[in-house]
Amino acid sequence: MTDLILKKGKERSLLRRHPWVYDTAVQKLNGKAVSGDTVRVCSYDGRFLAWAAYSKDSTLRARCWSFNETEAINADWIREKIKQALQARQFLFSRTSAVRVIFGEADQLPGLVVDRYGDWLVTQFQAAGVEAYRDVIADELMKVPEIKGVFDRSDAATRHREGLPERVEVLRGAEPPLEIEVVEDGVRYGVDVRKGHKTGFYIDQRENRFLAQRLAREFKLRTGRGMRALNCFCYTGGFSLALLTGGAEEVISVDSSAEALAMAARNAERNGIDESRAKWVQADVFEYLRQAREAGEVFDLVILDPPKFASSHRHVERAARAYKDINLNGLRLVASGGDLLTFSCSGAMDVDLFQKVIAGAVIDSKRDAWMVARLGAGADHPLMMTCPEGEYLKGLQLTVR
Ligand code: SAH
Repeated sequence: MTDLILKKGKERSLLRRHPWVYDTAVQKLNGKAVSGDTVRVCSYDGRFLAWAAYSKDSTLRARCWSFNETEAINADWIREKIKQALQARQFLFSRTSAVRVIFGEADQLPGLVVDRYGDWLVTQFQAAGVEAYRDVIADELMKVPEIKGVFDRSDAATRHREGLPERVEVLRGAEPPLEIEVVEDGVRYGVDVRKGHKTGFYIDQRENRFLAQRLAREFKLRTGRGMRALNCFCYTGGFSLALLTGGAEEVISVDSSAEALAMAARNAERNGIDESRAKWVQADVFEYLRQAREAGEVFDLVILDPPKFASSHRHVERAARAYKDINLNGLRLVASGGDLLTFSCSGAMDVDLFQKVIAGAVIDSKRDAWMVARLGAGADHPLMMTCPEGEYLKGLQLTVR
């Protein structure tokens, strides 16, 4: 076994069980290792710290599998981690057929994402370590009851940093259909696992779609009419369909992608939603919000779920301005007593900063607003407490007057 020796002092984060070793922390490699090999990470004075997957071309030089010296990292260990991850998600399948069954670091399988859509599993191998166990992982996934095939969507940018080629192909079993239909909390969605964002669907927003559906239902009970809502950055209509099936009278959904909107319209059809209730608008949200304001539009609920504005810490400041802009203009469109659901999936922007930015938008909007809930990803995206970087999706529910 090859030892990866860290510089003096660089053992600290590993002693706190943070699972990443950066290139700058490495003193030397005692022996030989190629990308994907498991190495023994040691402190400068030779103390065992972790078993980790080595990646020679990445600034993330090693990702830890385990901090337990007595564990042997091999195919059986990988299979056991997959079983544990699947077991932990089992309870979700009574509500939905779209579940993230493996979430990288949180499941001790750093860089591996596996999403289940109906009878298909979609994989993303984003690091050399899990890539080395690709066949073991694929074979184990094929054993999951009812699974017809495993499709690999390993086209994430992180692959390049790991020196891995892009791969979009059937890994095991049958070719998935062009659109896999999933049912989540009674709502039907089509998922394009070949070209859709991430592995095809924003599984992480499940609980927040459920909240939107509940808000639409409660609004109708309270007021006797269906709400009028605006869903910005709607993609394939996740929040829109949740609202419409919850009883919203009209939902205007905005996205810049014609393809996403076409899928969204098909999703409305799947759920038997009358065309008059769902408007799909292809536009830039920044401009749309301004125009809606000028036109005097008012909505009972506004949802803002933009793409990642900050790709790294260097871009946080610029991203903060963009978040503030849409939130300021979004707040102005909320009817008195209405709600704003606002999100950020930028890992580089933490919860505190996001909340500050939204508070700034509230001040400038001259509206009064109360936070009634903090929002985040569902239980299939657990946060490993020793790896705060795993917390990327955050949101706030505000009531506005
Ligand atoms: N809310 C969605 C996910 C949003 S993903 C869901 O729950 O499924 C972000 C979306 O924003 C993408 O569909 C992308 O096409 C769109 N987008 C990115 N920049 C945009 C802009 N400036 N104006 C409108 N849409 C934009």
